[in-house]
Amino acid sequence: MQSEKKYCLYCEKLLKGRSDKRYCNDDCRTAYFNEQKKEEHDEIKTIDLALKKNRRILKSLLGDLKTKSVSEKQLLLKGFNPKYFTHLFKNMSGDEYHFCYDYGYREKPGNKFMIVKQLPVVLQD
Ligand SMILES: [Zn+2]
Repeated sequence: MQSEKKYCLYCEKLLKGRSDKRYCNDDCRTAYFNEQKKEEHDEIKTIDLALKKNRRILKSLLGDLKTKSVSEKQLLLKGFNPKYFTHLFKNMSGDEYHFCYDYGYREKPGNKFMIVKQLPVVLQD
């Protein structure tokens, strides 16, 4: 039975030997994985940066306070991008918070944003 020709996923050289081989050698394998990682990194970099910037802005506005109300304009002027957040949280009263990592905010009437810091979560098994 003639098996199909296979080529290294990284350097595209013809592979000989075992039919389940996907790379010439470990170097090609490592290089291939590094390339994939870099590609993924590039794809998510913009969003990562936006999320981290959002967190920095919330953190700097909140300072040592527990909560702080700011205007939407104040946030936007600093370069805050409300399109990006890591998760949503709803408290018992049904108030919804948008979080960027451990810092979040809740929208209030009159284009106000109340900034909060997430309390450390105690994980239980
Ligand atoms: Zn190769």
